[in-house]
Amino acid sequence: MTRDLADLGSCVRCALALSRTRVVIGSGPSRARLMVIGEAPGATEDEGGEPFTGRSGQLLVRLLEEELGLGRDQCFITNVVKCRPPHNRRPTALEVTTCQPWLEEQWRLVAPRVALVLGNTAARSVLGLNEGIGRCHGRVVELDAVAALATYHPAAALRGGPNVVSVIREDLGIVRALLERP
Ligand code: URA
Repeated sequence: MTRDLADLGSCVRCALALSRTRVVIGSGPSRARLMVIGEAPGATEDEGGEPFTGRSGQLLVRLLEEELGLGRDQCFITNVVKCRPPHNRRPTALEVTTCQPWLEEQWRLVAPRVALVLGNTAARSVLGLNEGIGRCHGRVVELDAVAALATYHPAAALRGGPNVVSVIREDLGIVRALLERP
């Protein structure tokens, strides 16, 4: 099922519409070589309407710049679920599947070469990986013409410290190589 992205800002397909401030659609160019997909907006994003602008977003943007030389304006950044779950709880399976057609439409339009998927929820829903991020991070999955891989969510790096950051940096090295592929 495809959906017209013009309707995303007024989506009321699940109960998150009742508690959100804004739908956090995504940021970046309408076509981009790299698409970054997180879990769901947090409080900062719900207020401001842009994904990954809070603490974990700042870390993500720094790592993208340092490891790939890409600014946030050069990547398309979005989430599996476009509205903030109350108290930042993990989105439910129903919320993820209800929101999925929006992500599928973004994926089709942005047409990235590489997709970087952040954390367990996104790895499960986008890549169908159920093993936990500690086991499946860095594994490249070819989805149509897109090379996709999961890494730790930057929020886990904020909690887990330098070791998690190092793993994300290594996974970004794989992203770099994929982006450089002829
Ligand atoms: N965490 C996410 O997964 N997405 C955001 O946009 C912010 C924090």
